[in-house]
This record gives sequence, C-alpha cells and structure tokens, in this order.
Amino acid sequence: MSDALLDPATFRIALRDWLDTNDLTPPAGDDSLEAHQAQHLRVLKALYDAGWMRYGWPESAGGLGGPDILRAIVGEEVVGRGLDHPGPYSMLDVLTPTMIGYARPELAAEMVPKLLSGQESWCQGFSEPGSGSDLASLTTRAVQDGDTWIINGQKVWTSFAQFATRCVLLTRTGGPDTPNHEAITAFFVDLKTPGVTVRPLRTMHGVDEFCEVYFDDVAVPADRMLGKPGDGWRLAMDLLPYERSTCFWQRIAYLYSRFDALVDQVKRVGQAVDSDLGETYLALHTLRCRSRATQHRLADGHKLGAETSIDKVLLAGAEQQLYDTARDLLPGVIELDDNDWRTEYLYSRAATIYGGTAEIQRNIIARRLLDLGKE
Ligand SMILES: Cc1cc2nc3c(=O)[nH]c(=O)nc-3n(C[C@H](O)[C@H](O)[C@H](O)COP(=O)(O)OP(=O)(O)OC[C@H]3O[C@@H](n4cnc5c(N)ncnc54)[C@H](O)[C@@H]3O)c2cc1C
Repeated sequence: MSDALLDPATFRIALRDWLDTNDLTPPAGDDSLEAHQAQHLRVLKALYDAGWMRYGWPESAGGLGGPDILRAIVGEEVVGRGLDHPGPYSMLDVLTPTMIGYARPELAAEMVPKLLSGQESWCQGFSEPGSGSDLASLTTRAVQDGDTWIINGQKVWTSFAQFATRCVLLTRTGGPDTPNHEAITAFFVDLKTPGVTVRPLRTMHGVDEFCEVYFDDVAVPADRMLGKPGDGWRLAMDLLPYERSTCFWQRIAYLYSRFDALVDQVKRVGQAVDSDLGETYLALHTLRCRSRATQHRLADGHKLGAETSIDKVLLAGAEQQLYDTARDLLPGVIELDDNDWRTEYLYSRAATIYGGTAEIQRNIIARRLLDLGKE
C-alpha cells in the first residue's frame, strides 16, 4: 500500500477497483441472520487481509493510519454495494473508537484487529429493562473483589449479542451517594465467562436481531475496565456520537441503493413516478449533505457531540419516508408479501428508537444546541 492511498479520492478509486476484481457478493438463497453474520465476517476478513479495513485506524491499534474519512469510504462502498448489512457493519464504527479511546493501549492493540478482521464480533451492553433513554439510572452492578469485579444484572436490546465474543458493558460501581454520572464504569467482558446468559429476542420484522443478556456473578479481571472507575458515563457520551456519524454514512449509502431499487420497481409495475419519490430523494440528499459535513468534522479531528443529534433526526425521518413511499407506491407489497421491502419497512420503525429516540434527540437539540431550557 502506498502513501498515495491516504488521499481520499485515490483511495476510493483503488478500493473500487479492488472490489470490482474481488467478488464478495453474498451467496444467494439464504437470507437468515446467521448467513448475514457469516457474510459480515467473510467481508471483514477479505478487506482486512487486503489492508482496506485498516485504513483510518491508528497504527497503535493495528491500523494503517490515514484520515478517518478513509474508513467512511470503505463502509460506504461495502454497504452501498450490498456486500454487508448496515447493522452489523455499524458495530465497527461504534465500538472501535471506544476501545481505542478507553482500553489500556495493550488491550486495544490486541483486540481491535480481531474485530476489524472478522475474527470476532462485539456488542454494546448499555440499555436495561428499566434504563433506556434514562441510561444513567442503570442498575447492573459491579463490585470489586481483589483483582476482579463481580457483575450482576441484566441488559436488553443488545444487538447481535448471540454472535458476539465480547461486550462493552456499562455497570454501576458507585454507592447511593455517588452522583449518577460518576457512578458508572465500563468493562470489556468476554461473553464466554461463566454466569453470562444470552437470549435472543424476536423483533416485529421477524429477525432475532437483539438479545437479553444476563450477568450472574460474572467475574471480570480489573484490567478489563475501560478507563477508570466512574468513567463509564463519559465513555457512553463519547460513544453515542459515533453511532450518529461514520456508521450513518454507510447506512445512507444503503438507503440510496434502496431508493434506486424502489424507482426501478415503481417503473416496472407501471406506476407513475410521482412527487413522493422526489421528496424522498430530497430527504435522503439533505441527510447525506449533513452527514458529509459530520464526516469531515470528524476527519479534521473535532470531537463530536450534541450536534450529531441533528443527523439522527434527519436519518430517522429519511429512512421512514423512504419505506413509507415504498408502501404507498408498491400497493400490497409491504402488507401482503413476505419480502425485503416488508422486512425493511418494519425495521425502519426502529430508526426513531435505536441510538437515542427521536424525542430525546429533539430534547438534546432544544436544550444543548438551541439553549431553549428544560421542557
Ligand atoms: C434496533 C435497535 C437496536 C438496539 N441496539 C442496542 C444495543 O446494541 N445496545 C443497547 O444498549 N441498546 C440498544 N438498543 C436500545 C435503545 O438504545 C433504546 O431502545 C433506546 O435508548 C430507548 O430506550 P427504551 O427502549 O428503554 O425506551 P424508553 O426510554 O422507555 O422510552 C419510551 C418512550 O418514552 C419517550 N421518552 C423517554 N424519556 C423522555 C423524555 N425525557 N422526554 C420525552 N420523551 C421521552 C421515548 O422517546 C420513547 O418514545 C436498541 C434499540 C433498537 C430499537
């Protein structure tokens, strides 16, 4: 790999050439979650072995360096071509920066290559049955016992936990008088540890995409703590903007590919191409412009924060509008047929929930960006 590749335009051309000559098309015929996961790992391995997956990540964690924008380009090309699904792919963009930012350097150097190369998958154990939007109220407890911490509690909505080797887990370590935001501590937990139980949950789109994860006296070595005791809230606040930045870029590429598919299908069934499609395109384009600016801010070394809530509101709106338009222009396809449009229409309802609900994002925009005070 030459340094010329660090230039984003050159990088994209070279990556496209590589993808054109190295066929990573998913095998036809099996649309199960297990098949998606196998394809996800296959794509990561091929991209990592060829170097692509290492660009945009620091050398200290097994990367090849270069601007962050390079990894956004990889995600855009891979997911936009339908080689991997945006859901599993997004875990890289969310959890890798967290490990690099908070794990001991030796731990990050050991673990990050395992994730990027598809040797392992990881999951994000934040939400609990009683703590979603109000994450700071979480009750999963970690108590120190010499060189280990003993963890008890339950997580829920943990995406892809059934395939994960490890989990970035938020726990409560502070006492009753510790302010909530100083009472939370994060650990990097091996899910094979005795006492961990993972139970997949069926979603309304028919896929067991997320899980309940139970922790019963799970012993975690102290050197698996991410940051220091009490750093967990800061870790979560640093992680959430990543859920609304690089991983949106590849999701947008996917939505564009579905928009193109919708236009084709509408023409095939002889429907008039109407203004709903124009409005949907505008929503997608507005989102892409906004997200492009976010990718550049990230690449220029800015720390992302509350402003990424705008990206989240635009993403959820555009995604739901796309699938609403599909429902309106392809009569019966979503209501009566068992197909990708139906599955994706149902999944698009989650866009206003995952990564922080639409209401919470609007609260953040109102309070922290517009300074409108409490509701
Ligand atoms: C597809 C998907 C994948 C997910 N993956 C993960 C994962 O991998 N790991 C993980 O930890 N979590 C995950 N989650 C969970 C997600 O983060 C939570 O669902 C989300 O934070 C909302 O929490 P909740 O479901 O407990 O809803 P609640 O917080 O109970 O909210 C219920 C309703 O009340 C509204 N509400 C709550 N508080 C306020 C307020 N102050 N003002 C106005 N309205 C309010 C909300 O907007 C919502 O409409 C996932 C969720 C989905 C849908």
